[in-house]
Amino acid sequence: MTAALKHSLADLEAPASLLSDQPQTRTRIAVAYGDGIGPEIMAATLSILDLAGADLGYDTIEIGEKVYERGVSAGIEPESWDTLRANKVFLKAPITTPQGGGFKSLNVTTRKTLGLYANVRPCVAYTPFVASKHPGMDVVIVRENEEDTYGGIEHRQTSEVTQCLKLISRPGCEKIVRYAFEYARSTGRKRVSCFTKDNIMKATDGLFHQVFDEIAPEYPEIEHDHWIIDIGAAMLADQPERFDVIVTPNLYGDIISDIAAQIAGSVGLCGTSNIGEDCAMFEAIHGSAPDIAGQDVANPSGLILAAVQMLVHLGKPDVAERIHNALLATIEDGIHTPDLYDPDVSQLKVGTAEFADAVIDRLDLKPRQLKAVQYHTAPEPAEVKVLSRKVPPSKPFKQLVGVDVFLDWDEPRRDPQRLAARLKYVSQSSGLELQMITNRGVKVWPSGFPETFCTDHWRCRFVPRQAHEKFEQDVSTTPKQLILLLTHLDNHGLDVIKTENLYTFDGKPGYSLGQGQ
Ligand code: NAD
Repeated sequence: MTAALKHSLADLEAPASLLSDQPQTRTRIAVAYGDGIGPEIMAATLSILDLAGADLGYDTIEIGEKVYERGVSAGIEPESWDTLRANKVFLKAPITTPQGGGFKSLNVTTRKTLGLYANVRPCVAYTPFVASKHPGMDVVIVRENEEDTYGGIEHRQTSEVTQCLKLISRPGCEKIVRYAFEYARSTGRKRVSCFTKDNIMKATDGLFHQVFDEIAPEYPEIEHDHWIIDIGAAMLADQPERFDVIVTPNLYGDIISDIAAQIAGSVGLCGTSNIGEDCAMFEAIHGSAPDIAGQDVANPSGLILAAVQMLVHLGKPDVAERIHNALLATIEDGIHTPDLYDPDVSQLKVGTAEFADAVIDRLDLKPRQLKAVQYHTAPEPAEVKVLSRKVPPSKPFKQLVGVDVFLDWDEPRRDPQRLAARLKYVSQSSGLELQMITNRGVKVWPSGFPETFCTDHWRCRFVPRQAHEKFEQDVSTTPKQLILLLTHLDNHGLDVIKTENLYTFDGKPGYSLGQGQ
């Protein structure tokens, strides 16, 4: 029997009491075998962990397809959260998400439920043993994991228009930016680059960039720079050697981490960690590969490298180093699973379990050509707590200075002049005055261009009459005045679909101007 098969599928069916029947001194982790190739690559990975001396105990939970099919829309049974929260560290194999609606993404749920705010993905080229467009590439993407448009707060507001809220918080930015610098410091990396789109999204991405600029000077030994995401992503794809660690909000991070893995040539070899203040989850980046499941051909390297990250996180850098170097030596010796097999460089085509055995055989070896890793010299695993920073020094003075009223208005000509005339008439006794109308963010009144395409979704900005007359930004209004305005609008049959209050903070507008304003 191969070593990898010692962790057989029987583990999956064993009662929880048996699974927990291991010495309590061991560090215990939660493990899920997942779907498709998951059980095979997990068995291979756990066998390597055991024989490398990781000294871990495993509490197995069931996740994925079978759980979804039992009608649990989250793909994880409620009691499994207790196991995850008790163990704090979760090694997860990929799962199959059933086709059709009604199923929630288990990854998104796990990240948000356990507060796993940092997604860390090292993307490394293994040339000449694995083809890569960028030999020598070695970039780590640190992606914010909880905020941005991934809150999933979406609404259909009119026949034609839907919206998705992009939420970025100061504590969220502080945690991820600090994590990126701590990670760079603990792994001996030299530069952290921030990617945002703050030339367009000045409030949300602007906050991310601002927090990056505030925190960077606390790490003087690490260089830092900022890139607008579009040119940054282009540079990453073309000249990845310019980058070392990249920190970026959720959506951009999702996209560039796949680009980075792809151009490194290491999609099948990439492991990733999701780190929170209390808990952490480690997995391969690929899916459950149902097309090759059960054939003992899957490459377990992604999950093995995720387990390496987990060992560093658990404070077992010596074991992490043994396994990682053994994996590199195996790849270098040309022992390849079918996905990597290339007659020009490979020596032996092996299955999943045999590949694990080859890694185990090399646990005391280092690669000769690929760069050997060193974890045992790292001071400590990156650890981040949000500090109660004194920036800004105190809570800013917040003042209500107006309201954006969003209307579903679909008169045949969609003429902003007609809408403005009606709104001015309707609002005249509310104390608030119409200041501008935009359509999908573009100003269409008081002046605009007939070429601007208008949907049925109108943002109408109202400010106190005095502010409007004197062109002042800081004249306050009251919630009662806003309610009065909404009452007038409703009485005249205008369809208010939502409102956004306009605030200044210490006199500075906390809202964007209309494009063209
Ligand atoms: P996939 O990554 O599973 O497979 C894409 C291709 O890569 C397939 O040809 C597959 O055979 C191959 N492949 C993937 N991993 C491999 C490995 N370790 N060794 C050798 N070949 C490998 O992507 P997909 O086909 O789009 O998705 C399949 C299922 O996985 C879907 O249900 C999807 O929702 C799910 N998925 C899960 C996760 C996760 O659990 N984290 C991530 C992505 C996709």
